[in-house]
Amino acid sequence: MEHPTTSHLLRAEARVPLSGPHHMMDKLCETFTEFGTVERSGRSARLEIAYGSIFLEAGETSLDLRAEGSDPTCLAYVKMSVAEHLLNLASDEKPPLVWSGDGAAGSPLPYFREMRVVSACNVTPRMRRVMLRGSDLARFTTGGLHVRLLIPPRRGAHPQWPVTGEDGRPAWPKGNERPIIRIYTIREIDVERGEITIDIVLHEGDDTPGSTWAREASEGDVVGVMGPGGGDVPAADWYLLAGDETALPAIARILASLPAGCRATVILEIPDESERQPLPSAAELDVRWLYRNGAPAGTTSLIEDAVRGIQLPADVGRRFIWAGCEQKSCRCLRKLVRKEWSVPASDHLVVAYWRAGCAGETSGEA
Ligand SMILES: Cc1cc2nc3c(=O)[nH]c(=O)nc-3n(C[C@H](O)[C@H](O)[C@H](O)COP(=O)(O)OP(=O)(O)OC[C@H]3O[C@@H](n4cnc5c(N)ncnc54)[C@H](O)[C@@H]3O)c2cc1C
Repeated sequence: MEHPTTSHLLRAEARVPLSGPHHMMDKLCETFTEFGTVERSGRSARLEIAYGSIFLEAGETSLDLRAEGSDPTCLAYVKMSVAEHLLNLASDEKPPLVWSGDGAAGSPLPYFREMRVVSACNVTPRMRRVMLRGSDLARFTTGGLHVRLLIPPRRGAHPQWPVTGEDGRPAWPKGNERPIIRIYTIREIDVERGEITIDIVLHEGDDTPGSTWAREASEGDVVGVMGPGGGDVPAADWYLLAGDETALPAIARILASLPAGCRATVILEIPDESERQPLPSAAELDVRWLYRNGAPAGTTSLIEDAVRGIQLPADVGRRFIWAGCEQKSCRCLRKLVRKEWSVPASDHLVVAYWRAGCAGETSGEA
């Protein structure tokens, strides 16, 4: 296995007993081509992903893993990523995966913060703005727009939070103590004040822990925040940003970060005119609001139709396409962008933010 020369990296290692280590290495390399670059050399491989590196070496009866990351969060994400894929691919065998090195089992998750609600108010009739306060938030400004909210299972009770598991994944409290997880976007972050703002859609439905939490949130409520995730939006000269109201916070944050001189076409599907929000940006904007006017969310083709009508500009440098919406729309948009427009993977990100009829993380593809 190649040995690192840089000293500032954090590292962890694991030896995983397997019946077919070479076969597992092949499968991991194939899987990770989707997320980064893969270099193979005989019995060894090096996988580079957004958060860091994974080195693999296949022996006769085991696969050696080394994870490297530039900070505790990056290392934890690298370990978690390889653990999830390996244990999923080896689900019949259930091999033990125990990391040694940096980021020991049982320690707090470096990407977790306990926070408290400072205020909650409606910005529009169906959008609730919740401000949270916590400490040490600088890491949440880079590496992605979204976080996982860990909602206590019982109002008022002090929750138990996950810690680092032996296999690198979070070890969750058992049974009824496990928090409910929902994904939201950091709409604004102020590291100095230790505050993040999250805008939460108050959507229809009976059993909606995220919406219900936002509706009832009051000063002092405790909540867990894990993140950030999803990667940063790259610098470009022209953007196409499309989504429904769940993506409005992400689109607003992206627009607020764009410099003067670039252009953005924005397509936003919302229930009706009362859900419009100001979208401050230094960039030159072409904003198109689409109203469902009574149609339930996730039942129209408004976003696809509008995106299909866009003429991609030929006279600009880099173009970047970003979209977040219900899963069916997301699939249509991906097909359009990838197959019909042949936009390379590096120049687009189209994500399912929710799925009609499904709850929480089973719904999205974040
Ligand atoms: C990367 C990412 C970022 C996101 N950012 C935000 C954000 O900033 N603000 C935000 O409000 N949402 C955001 N979402 C979407 C949010 O996570 C989902 O809408 C989530 O399912 C809401 O949880 P819930 O507990 O309210 O409802 P769930 O328990 O998840 O679902 C209950 C029922 O409600 C339906 N449902 C869920 N969401 C909606 C909806 N929006 N409209 C209509 N029906 C719905 C489900 O299909 C299900 O039938 C984001 C999602 C992702 C993947």
